[in-house]
Amino acid sequence: MASGPLGSPGDADTLGLSQAAGLAGNPAIVPSVRYELHDGRILTWSLETHVVTHCNLRCVQCCPMSPHLPAWAVDPATLGADLTRLARVLKPNVFKLTGGEPFLHPDLAGVLDAVRASGICEQLSVTTNGLLAQSAPDAVYERLDRMTLSVYSSAPLTDASLSRITERCERHRVHLTVKRIDAFQQITPDAPLATDAEVREVHARCWLKVRCHLVHQGRFYSCTRPPHVATVLGPTYPQMPALGEVDSVRLDAPDLLERMLGLLERDTPLATCRYCLGASGPWKPHAQLPRARPAGAPA
Ligand code: SF4
Ligand code: SF4
Repeated sequence: MASGPLGSPGDADTLGLSQAAGLAGNPAIVPSVRYELHDGRILTWSLETHVVTHCNLRCVQCCPMSPHLPAWAVDPATLGADLTRLARVLKPNVFKLTGGEPFLHPDLAGVLDAVRASGICEQLSVTTNGLLAQSAPDAVYERLDRMTLSVYSSAPLTDASLSRITERCERHRVHLTVKRIDAFQQITPDAPLATDAEVREVHARCWLKVRCHLVHQGRFYSCTRPPHVATVLGPTYPQMPALGEVDSVRLDAPDLLERMLGLLERDTPLATCRYCLGASGPWKPHAQLPRARPAGAPA
């Protein structure tokens, strides 16, 4: 995969886990990037935020671990304050609202306004499974530049829904990218990686470290995994360090630019890499987990 702030924003949406299929098991080495600065801001390909953690699907091996996380929605004002801080030192090519399923946020238009007002980025994109996108308010479409629609073989959109979303994107001049996904890659290992050599190998071959930078709850991450791996797997592995803290930079750090460059340009694995397969996991046909049974429901 490409690295660094190159190409057009649409390319980022075609370089996902699905494209790495042919590389699984022995993907190419992805070297760490040395980032350029412009007007004191680090130029990056993209930045994303998880506007909600919950989802209306339960995909097996969901990268942000949505099926296993408690429901949560970002407060637009809080996100806006985080991004205003971050905008002083970071200039991503595209800002992505992801999740969970972003259209489950009760005020997605308000979130988009907060991102726009921060000045972090001119290109605002949403990544969605599409199930709610066709009926979203015009106010959301009016505030978007791009939409990436992931159509999963295990939960496909109808042609009518796809046509309606396409028509709405065209009417509001939102650039639509449709990704048809029929396989998933295991990203969470069955057990923590046993050796330091395995951890280094997974990190070296992981493209997410240069493409999937995350801002989440007052912190910047070089990939999207640390906070959610900590929440989901932390109770199972008491020896796990506080991944959400050790693998991030606080946005109120006085030397934010230097700390972020240190995180982005590191050649060594994150602590989280021991609990992750990055781009090295095996591929399987796409599938949904069974629906969770409500608490107290009969077995
Ligand atoms: S639609 Fe996306 S966020 Fe939702 S469960 Fe599937 S992969 Fe995860
Ligand atoms: S935790 Fe490590 S292996 Fe997993 S996505 Fe992040 S950088 Fe890649």
